[in-house]
Amino acid sequence: MAERILTGIKPTGQLTLGNYIAVLKNLKQQMDRGECFIFIADLHALTLPIDPEVLRQNSIDLAAFYLAAGLDPKRSALFLQSSVPAHSELNAIMQNYLYMGELSRMTQFKEKSAKMKENAIGLGLFAYPVLMACDIILYDANIVPVGEDQTQHIELARDLVNRFNNRYGNILTMPKAEVRKVGKRIMSLSNPTVKMSKSDPKGDIFLKDDPAVIRKKIMSAVTDLGSEVKFDEENKPGISNLLTIYCALKDISISEAEQIFANYRYGDFKKAVADAVIDELVPFQERYRQIIKDKSYEDVLNEGAKKARAIANQTLKRVQKAIGLLIV
Ligand code: ATP
Ligand code: MG
Repeated sequence: MAERILTGIKPTGQLTLGNYIAVLKNLKQQMDRGECFIFIADLHALTLPIDPEVLRQNSIDLAAFYLAAGLDPKRSALFLQSSVPAHSELNAIMQNYLYMGELSRMTQFKEKSAKMKENAIGLGLFAYPVLMACDIILYDANIVPVGEDQTQHIELARDLVNRFNNRYGNILTMPKAEVRKVGKRIMSLSNPTVKMSKSDPKGDIFLKDDPAVIRKKIMSAVTDLGSEVKFDEENKPGISNLLTIYCALKDISISEAEQIFANYRYGDFKKAVADAVIDELVPFQERYRQIIKDKSYEDVLNEGAKKARAIANQTLKRVQKAIGLLIV
Protein backbone atom coordinates (compact mmCIF):
# COMPACT_ATOMS: atom_id res chain seq x y z
CA MET A 1 0.00 0.00 0.00
CA ALA A 2 1.22 3.52 -0.79
CA GLU A 3 2.09 5.63 2.23
CA ARG A 4 -0.56 7.91 3.71
CA ILE A 5 1.07 10.90 5.30
CA LEU A 6 -0.54 13.37 7.66
CA THR A 7 1.01 16.54 8.95
CA GLY A 8 -0.23 19.73 10.58
CA ILE A 9 0.80 22.98 12.22
CA LYS A 10 -1.21 25.17 14.61
CA PRO A 11 -1.89 28.76 13.52
CA THR A 12 -0.95 30.03 16.99
CA GLY A 13 1.71 32.53 15.98
CA GLN A 14 4.37 33.39 13.46
CA LEU A 15 5.97 30.26 12.04
CA THR A 16 9.50 29.54 13.19
CA LEU A 17 12.54 27.90 11.72
CA GLY A 18 11.67 24.90 13.94
CA ASN A 19 8.34 24.48 12.14
CA TYR A 20 10.07 24.90 8.80
CA ILE A 21 12.61 22.19 9.50
CA ALA A 22 10.06 19.79 11.04
CA VAL A 23 7.36 20.05 8.40
CA LEU A 24 7.83 22.47 5.50
CA LYS A 25 11.32 21.55 4.40
CA ASN A 26 10.38 17.96 3.52
CA LEU A 27 6.98 18.57 2.03
CA LYS A 28 8.09 17.88 -1.54
CA GLN A 29 9.76 14.60 -0.58
CA GLN A 30 6.65 13.55 1.32
CA MET A 31 4.49 14.11 -1.76
CA ASP A 32 6.83 11.88 -3.76
CA ARG A 33 6.36 9.11 -1.20
CA GLY A 34 2.61 8.95 -0.95
CA GLU A 35 -0.70 10.64 -0.50
CA CYS A 36 -0.42 13.69 1.76
CA PHE A 37 -3.08 15.22 3.98
CA ILE A 38 -1.79 18.53 5.25
CA PHE A 39 -3.82 20.63 7.62
CA ILE A 40 -4.01 23.90 9.47
CA ALA A 41 -4.78 22.89 13.05
CA ASP A 42 -7.08 25.81 13.81
CA LEU A 43 -9.18 23.97 16.40
CA HIS A 44 -5.99 23.11 18.28
CA ALA A 45 -5.08 26.81 18.18
CA LEU A 46 -8.03 27.52 20.47
CA THR A 47 -6.50 25.59 23.36
CA LEU A 48 -4.84 28.80 24.58
CA PRO A 49 -6.51 32.23 24.32
CA ILE A 50 -6.11 33.77 20.86
CA ASP A 51 -7.55 36.91 19.25
CA PRO A 52 -10.01 36.03 16.40
CA GLU A 53 -8.37 38.36 13.88
CA VAL A 54 -4.92 36.99 14.73
CA LEU A 55 -6.19 33.43 14.28
CA ARG A 56 -7.65 34.33 10.87
CA GLN A 57 -4.45 36.00 9.70
CA ASN A 58 -2.25 33.19 11.02
CA SER A 59 -4.38 30.62 9.19
CA ILE A 60 -4.02 32.46 5.87
CA ASP A 61 -0.29 32.84 6.45
CA LEU A 62 0.09 29.16 7.19
CA ALA A 63 -1.77 28.17 4.01
CA ALA A 64 0.50 30.46 1.99
CA PHE A 65 3.61 29.06 3.70
CA TYR A 66 2.63 25.50 2.85
CA LEU A 67 2.21 26.49 -0.80
CA ALA A 68 5.48 28.44 -0.76
CA ALA A 69 7.17 25.28 0.52
CA GLY A 70 6.11 23.48 -2.64
CA LEU A 71 2.80 21.90 -1.67
CA ASP A 72 1.20 20.63 -4.87
CA PRO A 73 -2.61 20.63 -4.56
CA LYS A 74 -2.85 17.91 -7.21
CA ARG A 75 -0.79 15.50 -5.15
CA SER A 76 -2.10 16.43 -1.70
CA ALA A 77 -5.02 17.88 0.21
CA LEU A 78 -4.46 21.13 2.13
CA PHE A 79 -7.32 21.97 4.46
CA LEU A 80 -8.44 23.70 7.63
CA GLN A 81 -9.14 21.28 10.46
CA SER A 82 -12.37 23.19 11.20
CA SER A 83 -13.62 22.70 7.65
CA VAL A 84 -13.84 18.93 8.14
CA PRO A 85 -16.52 18.35 10.82
CA ALA A 86 -15.52 14.68 11.14
CA HIS A 87 -12.55 15.76 13.33
CA SER A 88 -14.93 17.05 15.99
CA GLU A 89 -17.34 14.15 15.57
CA LEU A 90 -14.65 11.52 15.95
CA ASN A 91 -13.26 13.47 18.90
CA ALA A 92 -16.61 13.12 20.69
CA ILE A 93 -16.27 9.35 20.33
CA MET A 94 -12.57 8.88 21.00
CA GLN A 95 -12.52 10.95 24.18
CA ASN A 96 -14.09 7.90 25.80
CA TYR A 97 -11.13 5.68 24.97
CA LEU A 98 -8.30 7.80 26.40
CA TYR A 99 -8.03 8.27 30.12
CA MET A 100 -7.38 11.14 32.56
CA GLY A 101 -4.27 9.47 33.97
CA GLU A 102 -2.51 9.09 30.65
CA LEU A 103 -3.51 12.56 29.46
CA SER A 104 -2.20 14.18 32.63
CA ARG A 105 1.23 12.64 31.99
CA MET A 106 1.68 14.49 28.69
CA THR A 107 4.70 16.79 28.76
CA GLN A 108 3.12 19.39 26.48
CA PHE A 109 0.13 19.70 28.81
CA LYS A 110 2.38 20.02 31.84
CA GLU A 111 4.55 22.65 30.15
CA LYS A 112 1.76 24.73 28.68
CA SER A 113 -0.36 24.68 31.84
CA ALA A 114 2.53 25.13 34.29
CA LYS A 115 2.13 28.87 34.66
CA MET A 116 -1.68 28.89 34.54
CA LYS A 117 -4.15 28.91 37.39
CA GLU A 118 -6.17 25.70 37.47
CA ASN A 119 -9.47 27.44 36.79
CA ALA A 120 -8.01 29.04 33.65
CA ILE A 121 -6.83 25.78 32.05
CA GLY A 122 -9.29 24.87 29.32
CA LEU A 123 -10.51 21.32 28.96
CA GLY A 124 -9.32 21.48 25.33
CA LEU A 125 -5.71 21.94 26.40
CA PHE A 126 -5.95 18.83 28.54
CA ALA A 127 -7.75 16.81 25.87
CA TYR A 128 -5.50 18.03 23.03
CA PRO A 129 -4.00 14.57 22.33
CA VAL A 130 -7.47 13.09 21.81
CA LEU A 131 -8.24 15.48 18.95
CA MET A 132 -4.73 15.01 17.61
CA ALA A 133 -5.23 11.23 17.54
CA CYS A 134 -8.48 11.80 15.63
CA ASP A 135 -6.69 14.04 13.11
CA ILE A 136 -4.40 11.13 12.30
CA ILE A 137 -6.87 8.26 12.47
CA LEU A 138 -9.40 9.88 10.15
CA TYR A 139 -7.03 9.67 7.18
CA ASP A 140 -5.73 6.16 7.91
CA ALA A 141 -2.34 7.85 8.05
CA ASN A 142 0.55 5.47 8.67
CA ILE A 143 3.23 8.18 8.67
CA VAL A 144 3.16 11.36 10.73
CA PRO A 145 6.19 13.63 10.29
CA VAL A 146 6.69 15.69 13.47
CA GLY A 147 9.29 17.31 15.68
CA GLU A 148 10.47 15.34 18.70
CA ASP A 149 8.15 17.24 21.04
CA GLN A 150 5.10 15.59 19.42
CA THR A 151 6.26 11.97 19.61
CA GLN A 152 4.63 11.45 23.00
CA HIS A 153 1.25 12.37 21.53
CA ILE A 154 1.74 9.94 18.67
CA GLU A 155 2.58 7.19 21.15
CA LEU A 156 -0.75 7.92 22.81
CA ALA A 157 -2.52 7.78 19.43
CA ARG A 158 -0.90 4.36 18.90
CA ASP A 159 -2.16 3.20 22.31
CA LEU A 160 -5.63 4.37 21.34
CA VAL A 161 -5.51 2.48 18.02
CA ASN A 162 -4.40 -0.67 19.81
CA ARG A 163 -7.06 -0.34 22.46
CA PHE A 164 -9.79 0.32 19.92
CA ASN A 165 -8.78 -2.43 17.51
CA ASN A 166 -8.49 -4.98 20.31
CA ARG A 167 -12.02 -4.24 21.28
CA TYR A 168 -13.73 -3.79 17.91
CA GLY A 169 -11.57 -5.55 15.33
CA ASN A 170 -9.15 -4.17 12.83
CA ILE A 171 -10.83 -0.80 12.29
CA LEU A 172 -8.08 1.83 12.63
CA THR A 173 -4.71 2.19 10.90
CA MET A 174 -1.64 2.23 13.14
CA PRO A 175 0.27 5.52 12.75
CA LYS A 176 3.99 6.01 13.19
CA ALA A 177 5.84 9.20 14.09
CA GLU A 178 8.60 10.13 11.71
CA VAL A 179 11.19 12.41 13.27
CA ARG A 180 14.14 13.65 11.27
CA LYS A 181 17.53 12.64 12.59
CA VAL A 182 19.09 16.08 12.44
CA GLY A 183 16.78 18.93 13.45
CA LYS A 184 14.27 17.04 15.58
CA ARG A 185 14.30 19.87 18.15
CA ILE A 186 15.51 23.32 17.17
CA MET A 187 16.34 25.32 20.27
CA SER A 188 15.94 29.02 21.10
CA LEU A 189 18.88 31.16 19.98
CA SER A 190 18.80 33.11 23.24
CA ASN A 191 18.40 30.06 25.48
CA PRO A 192 19.53 26.86 23.76
CA THR A 193 18.11 24.71 26.55
CA VAL A 194 14.49 25.48 25.55
CA LYS A 195 12.66 24.65 22.32
CA MET A 196 12.02 27.35 19.73
CA SER A 197 8.21 27.84 19.86
CA LYS A 198 5.89 30.16 18.04
CA SER A 199 3.51 30.71 20.96
CA ASP A 200 6.32 31.55 23.37
CA PRO A 201 8.75 33.43 21.16
CA LYS A 202 12.14 33.74 22.80
CA GLY A 203 15.15 33.61 20.54
CA ASP A 204 13.05 32.49 17.56
CA ILE A 205 13.85 32.91 13.89
CA PHE A 206 10.57 33.66 12.19
CA LEU A 207 9.96 32.63 8.60
CA LYS A 208 8.97 36.21 7.81
CA ASP A 209 12.11 37.80 9.27
CA ASP A 210 14.09 40.08 6.94
CA PRO A 211 17.59 38.88 6.03
CA ALA A 212 19.14 41.65 8.15
CA VAL A 213 17.10 40.55 11.16
CA ILE A 214 18.02 36.89 10.62
CA ARG A 215 21.69 37.78 10.41
CA LYS A 216 21.52 39.89 13.56
CA LYS A 217 19.71 37.16 15.51
CA ILE A 218 22.22 34.49 14.51
CA MET A 219 25.27 36.69 15.07
CA SER A 220 24.02 37.45 18.59
CA ALA A 221 22.92 33.86 19.37
CA VAL A 222 24.17 32.58 22.72
CA THR A 223 27.28 30.46 22.25
CA ASP A 224 29.44 28.60 24.69
CA LEU A 225 32.85 28.62 26.27
CA GLY A 226 35.71 27.39 24.14
CA SER A 227 36.40 28.10 20.51
CA GLU A 228 35.92 24.82 18.69
CA VAL A 229 32.88 24.24 16.45
CA LYS A 230 31.89 20.82 17.76
CA PHE A 231 28.61 19.05 18.44
CA ASP A 232 28.21 18.57 22.19
CA GLU A 233 24.67 19.22 23.37
CA GLU A 234 25.60 19.08 27.03
CA ASN A 235 28.59 21.39 27.10
CA LYS A 236 28.00 23.37 23.90
CA PRO A 237 24.22 23.65 23.48
CA GLY A 238 24.42 26.95 21.56
CA ILE A 239 26.98 25.78 19.01
CA SER A 240 25.25 22.39 18.73
CA ASN A 241 21.96 24.11 17.91
CA LEU A 242 23.56 26.25 15.20
CA LEU A 243 25.27 23.18 13.75
CA THR A 244 21.92 21.39 13.73
CA ILE A 245 20.26 24.27 11.89
CA TYR A 246 23.03 24.34 9.30
CA CYS A 247 22.92 20.58 8.71
CA ALA A 248 19.13 20.40 8.55
CA LEU A 249 19.03 23.12 5.89
CA LYS A 250 21.95 21.76 3.86
CA ASP A 251 20.91 18.12 4.30
CA ILE A 252 24.30 17.00 5.55
CA SER A 253 25.37 15.07 8.64
CA ILE A 254 26.76 16.66 11.80
CA SER A 255 30.18 15.11 11.24
CA GLU A 256 30.32 16.51 7.72
CA ALA A 257 29.61 19.98 9.12
CA GLU A 258 32.20 19.53 11.88
CA GLN A 259 34.75 18.86 9.15
CA ILE A 260 33.73 21.92 7.15
CA PHE A 261 34.01 24.17 10.22
CA ALA A 262 37.05 22.52 11.82
CA ASN A 263 39.19 25.65 11.54
CA TYR A 264 36.47 28.25 11.93
CA ARG A 265 36.12 30.67 14.81
CA TYR A 266 32.65 31.15 16.29
CA GLY A 267 32.12 34.47 14.46
CA ASP A 268 32.88 33.05 11.01
CA PHE A 269 30.85 29.94 11.73
CA LYS A 270 27.83 32.04 12.71
CA LYS A 271 28.22 34.01 9.49
CA ALA A 272 28.03 30.76 7.50
CA VAL A 273 24.92 29.66 9.43
CA ALA A 274 23.27 33.05 8.80
CA ASP A 275 24.06 32.74 5.07
CA ALA A 276 22.53 29.25 4.98
CA VAL A 277 19.30 30.41 6.65
CA ILE A 278 19.03 33.51 4.45
CA ASP A 279 19.72 31.52 1.25
CA GLU A 280 16.92 29.13 2.18
CA LEU A 281 14.35 31.68 3.36
CA VAL A 282 14.68 34.54 0.85
CA PRO A 283 13.27 32.66 -2.20
CA PHE A 284 10.70 31.02 0.09
CA GLN A 285 9.56 34.45 1.31
CA GLU A 286 9.25 35.71 -2.27
CA ARG A 287 6.94 32.83 -3.15
CA TYR A 288 4.95 33.43 0.04
CA ARG A 289 4.40 37.12 -0.82
CA GLN A 290 3.20 36.24 -4.31
CA ILE A 291 0.72 33.67 -2.94
CA ILE A 292 -0.65 36.17 -0.41
CA LYS A 293 -1.11 38.65 -3.25
CA ASP A 294 -2.89 36.34 -5.69
CA LYS A 295 -4.87 34.55 -2.93
CA SER A 296 -4.35 31.19 -4.65
CA TYR A 297 -4.70 29.52 -1.24
CA GLU A 298 -8.48 30.10 -1.30
CA ASP A 299 -9.26 27.59 -4.05
CA VAL A 300 -6.65 25.20 -2.72
CA LEU A 301 -8.26 25.17 0.74
CA ASN A 302 -11.68 24.64 -0.79
CA GLU A 303 -10.61 21.71 -2.92
CA GLY A 304 -8.52 20.30 -0.09
CA ALA A 305 -11.49 20.35 2.29
CA LYS A 306 -13.59 18.42 -0.22
CA LYS A 307 -10.95 15.71 -0.63
CA ALA A 308 -10.36 15.53 3.12
CA ARG A 309 -14.08 15.34 3.96
CA ALA A 310 -14.61 12.45 1.56
CA ILE A 311 -11.91 10.32 3.23
CA ALA A 312 -12.62 11.44 6.80
CA ASN A 313 -16.34 10.72 6.51
CA GLN A 314 -15.64 7.16 5.41
CA THR A 315 -13.48 6.51 8.47
CA LEU A 316 -16.02 8.14 10.75
CA LYS A 317 -18.77 5.86 9.40
CA ARG A 318 -16.56 2.81 9.89
CA VAL A 319 -15.99 3.77 13.52
CA GLN A 320 -19.62 4.64 14.19
CA LYS A 321 -20.72 1.30 12.81
CA ALA A 322 -18.10 -0.63 14.76
CA ILE A 323 -19.10 0.82 18.12
CA GLY A 324 -22.82 0.30 17.58
CA LEU A 325 -24.13 3.68 16.51
CA LEU A 326 -27.04 3.39 14.11
CA ILE A 327 -26.20 4.74 10.68
CA VAL A 328 -29.47 6.10 9.32
P1 ATP B 1 3.18 26.25 19.83
O1 ATP B 1 4.12 27.05 20.66
O2 ATP B 1 1.89 26.94 19.53
O3 ATP B 1 2.98 24.85 20.34
P2 ATP B 1 5.09 25.24 17.91
O4 ATP B 1 6.17 26.12 17.36
O5 ATP B 1 5.46 24.23 18.93
O6 ATP B 1 3.90 26.17 18.41
P3 ATP B 1 3.26 23.42 16.59
O7 ATP B 1 2.18 23.96 15.72
O8 ATP B 1 2.93 22.98 17.96
O9 ATP B 1 4.43 24.54 16.65
O10 ATP B 1 4.00 22.23 15.85
C1 ATP B 1 4.06 22.09 14.44
C2 ATP B 1 5.16 21.11 14.09
O11 ATP B 1 6.45 21.72 14.30
C3 ATP B 1 5.17 19.85 14.96
O12 ATP B 1 5.52 18.76 14.15
C4 ATP B 1 6.25 20.11 15.98
O13 ATP B 1 6.81 18.94 16.50
C5 ATP B 1 7.25 20.89 15.14
N1 ATP B 1 8.11 21.77 15.93
C6 ATP B 1 7.70 22.80 16.71
N2 ATP B 1 8.74 23.41 17.26
C7 ATP B 1 9.86 22.74 16.84
C8 ATP B 1 11.26 22.89 17.08
N3 ATP B 1 11.71 23.85 17.88
N4 ATP B 1 12.12 22.03 16.47
C9 ATP B 1 11.66 21.04 15.65
N5 ATP B 1 10.35 20.85 15.40
C10 ATP B 1 9.45 21.69 15.97
MG1 MG C 1 3.91 23.02 19.78
